[in-house]
Amino acid sequence: MLSYPKNTYIIVFLLFTAQLLTASNLDSLSSLLQIEQKKSGSNQEKVLDLMTQISQIHFEQEEFEKALSVLDLAIPKAKKIKDLEVYQTLMADKAQVYLSTDRYLLAIETLIESIEHLKQIKDGNLAKAYTRIAGVYQKIGNHDLAYEYHMAGLEIYEEEKDSVNIGRSLYNIGSIFFYQDNCEIAIEYYQKTLDICKATKSERHIFSCLTALGGAYSRLHQTDKSLDYNLRAYELGKRLGLTSRLSYAVINLGANYAAKGDTIKALEFYEEAQALNEETNDFWGQCATLRLIGDILIQKGQFKKGYDYLMEVQKIAQQKGYRTRIKELHSSLARYYEKIGDYKQSIEHLEQYVSMKDSLANEASLQKMSDSKTRYEILQKEKELALKDAKFIIQQRTFLLLGICILSICLWLLVKQNRLKAKNNKVLAQKNIQIKKQNEELATAYALQKETNEKIKEQNRQLEQSNIELKRFAFIASHDLKEPLRTIGSYANLLQRRYKNKIDDNANEFLDYITDSAKRLYTLLNDVLDYSKLNVSKKERELTDANEAIQIANENLKTKIAKKNAHISIGELPKLTADKLHLVQLFQNLIDNSIKYSESQRPTVEIASTENNGFYQFSIKDNGIGIDPELQPKIFEMFKRLHTRDKFDGNGIGLAICKKIVQEYGGDIWVESAEGKGSTFYFTFPVPEKEMGVAA
Ligand code: ADP
Repeated sequence: MLSYPKNTYIIVFLLFTAQLLTASNLDSLSSLLQIEQKKSGSNQEKVLDLMTQISQIHFEQEEFEKALSVLDLAIPKAKKIKDLEVYQTLMADKAQVYLSTDRYLLAIETLIESIEHLKQIKDGNLAKAYTRIAGVYQKIGNHDLAYEYHMAGLEIYEEEKDSVNIGRSLYNIGSIFFYQDNCEIAIEYYQKTLDICKATKSERHIFSCLTALGGAYSRLHQTDKSLDYNLRAYELGKRLGLTSRLSYAVINLGANYAAKGDTIKALEFYEEAQALNEETNDFWGQCATLRLIGDILIQKGQFKKGYDYLMEVQKIAQQKGYRTRIKELHSSLARYYEKIGDYKQSIEHLEQYVSMKDSLANEASLQKMSDSKTRYEILQKEKELALKDAKFIIQQRTFLLLGICILSICLWLLVKQNRLKAKNNKVLAQKNIQIKKQNEELATAYALQKETNEKIKEQNRQLEQSNIELKRFAFIASHDLKEPLRTIGSYANLLQRRYKNKIDDNANEFLDYITDSAKRLYTLLNDVLDYSKLNVSKKERELTDANEAIQIANENLKTKIAKKNAHISIGELPKLTADKLHLVQLFQNLIDNSIKYSESQRPTVEIASTENNGFYQFSIKDNGIGIDPELQPKIFEMFKRLHTRDKFDGNGIGLAICKKIVQEYGGDIWVESAEGKGSTFYFTFPVPEKEMGVAA
C-alpha cells in the first residue's frame, strides 16, 4: 500500500474543504438569485451583483462556458439599468473568458463593444480597454491594429500624465516592432520606457526593459551589448525574486552564448528558462525556449531530439494560436529539413515562414504603422508646441504684468516727484519772496550804506580838508606868529635891559611877564609847529636803532638830566622801521616827562623792550609822582595837563605828539600808574618786516 506524507493528507483535506465551500457558496448564491428573480418587484442591482459573483466563481473554477452563460444574461441587464460600472466589469470578464479559451476574435468583439460603450460615456477606463485589445491583437499577430490601439491608449495616458501606463504602452509598442524584426525602432521605444522606469524607480519594469533591450541587441547581432543588458536584467530579476519574466532574460543569455558559439552554455541557459516557463505556465515563453533548444540540438546533429522539441512547440503554438511563434517555428523547421537533406520540405517551410512574415509584417501593414507612428510624432510635436505656446503666453503675461508693475511704479514715482516738485516749488516761491524781500531790504540797506558811505566819504574829505587847512593854519599861524612874538620878546627884553633903572619896580615886573609869556608862547608855537609838521612819509622810514634814537634824545636832555641828577637805564632795544626824528621825539618827550614829574632826589628812568605778536612793546618806567588812574586817558589829549604851570612847567602837547607818532606807525600808547607810585608808559611798534622774516 502506498503511504503518503502527513502533509499531503492535510493539503488534500483543505482543497476538498475549499471546493465544498466554493460549491456550497455557488449553490447558495444560485438559490439566492432564484429567490430574488422570482420576487414580483425584484431588486435588479442585487440580481446583477449575485450574477457577477456567480460568473466569477465559474471563471475561477475554469468553468468558462458556465461563466459565459451567466455573463450573457447579466450584461443586458446591466445595460438596461444603466449600471455602467458593473457593465464594464462584466464585459471585461467576458473578454477574459474568451482570451482564456483562446477565442481571440470573440474577445476582440467583446472588447470593441466595451470600447464603443466607454467612448459614448467618456469613461476613464477607455485607455485600459485600448491597451487590453491591443494586447489581444499583439498576441494573434495583428500588429498594425495592436499598434493603433496602443497608440490610442498612449495618447490618453499622456493626457493624464500617467507615467506608469505611458511606460507600459511604449514597451508594448517596442515589442510590436521587435516581433516584426524592426529592432532599431524597438530599441528606441525600450530606451524611452527605461528612462521613464528609472524616473519612476520601478525596478520590475526596469528589469523588463533591460531584458527587452538585451533581446533586441541580440537580434541585431550586437552580442556584447546584448550580453551586458541581459546580465544586468538577470541579476536584477534574481534580486527581485522574479520567476515569471526572468525566463526571458535567461533565454536572451542563452542566445548570446549561442551567438558566441558556446552551445553548451547556451543550452544550459535555455533549459533554465524552460524550467522557469513551466513553473509559471508561460506557454508563450515555452514556445521560445523549446524551439531554441531544438535548434541547438539539431545544430549539434541530434536531429530526432531536436525535431521533437520543435513538434512540442508546434503543438503549443497551434493550440494557443501564437502565429508569431509558428512563423519562428517554420524558420527552425526549414533549417532542420535542410540539415537532414530534405530540401523540398525545407523550402516549403521557408516559403511558409516568408509568407507568414509578410502577412505579419507586410508592406501595407508596416506603412500603416509608420503612418500611425508619424501621426503620433506629429501629435507629440503639436503638444510640445502647444506647451511652448502656453509657456510663451505665460511668459508674455508675466512680462505684461511686470511691465504694468514697472509702469505703475514709474507713474507713482512721477506723481510723487511732481508732488515733491510742487511742494518744492511752493517752498521755492516762498523762499523767492523771502529772498526778494531780503534783497529789497539789502538794497535799501545798501542804498543807506552807500548814502552813509558817501556821507562818511564826504565827511572824511571834509575832515581831510579841514585837517589840511588846520595843518596849514597851524603851520602858518605858528610860523608867522613866531616872528612878531620874537620881536615882542626881544623888545621887551631890550626895554628891560635899557630902562631897568628908569622905570619903577612894577613896570619891571610887567616887563618880566611879557618876556616870560613871549618865551612860553614861543615854545608853544614851536610845539604846535612840530605837531602840525608830523608827516609820516613812507619815503623817510628806515631801519633805525632805538638805542641810537634814545642817545640823541638824552643828548638833547642832558642839561635837564644833570640838573635833576636823574639816572636813565636802557635795556637791549631793537631796530625799528621809522623816521629817526620821530623816534627821537617820542623817547625824548617820555624821558623828559619822567624826569619832570618826579620829586625824587634821584629820578630814575628804566627803558626796556619785549616782543609780542609781531609788535615790540617798549616800557619807560619812572619813580615819579604817578598819575591818578581816572585821569590817565585824558593825558594823551592835546593841551591836557594835570598840573598848574606853577608846579610843573609845560603846555600839554608832549603826550599828544607821542600818541600821534605811535598811531601813525600802527602802534598804541598807554600808561599804568598810581599816584605816588611812579608811572610806566607803554607803547608798541611793529616788528620790521625783514626781522619778522628772519624770525620766521
Ligand atoms: P606837559 O608836560 O607839557 O604838561 P604833556 O603832554 O607832556 O604836557 O603831559 C601832559 C600831562 O601829563 C602833564 O601835564 C602831567 O600832568 C602828566 N604827566 C606826563 N608825564 C608824566 C609823568 N611821567 N608822571 C606824572 N605825570 C605826568
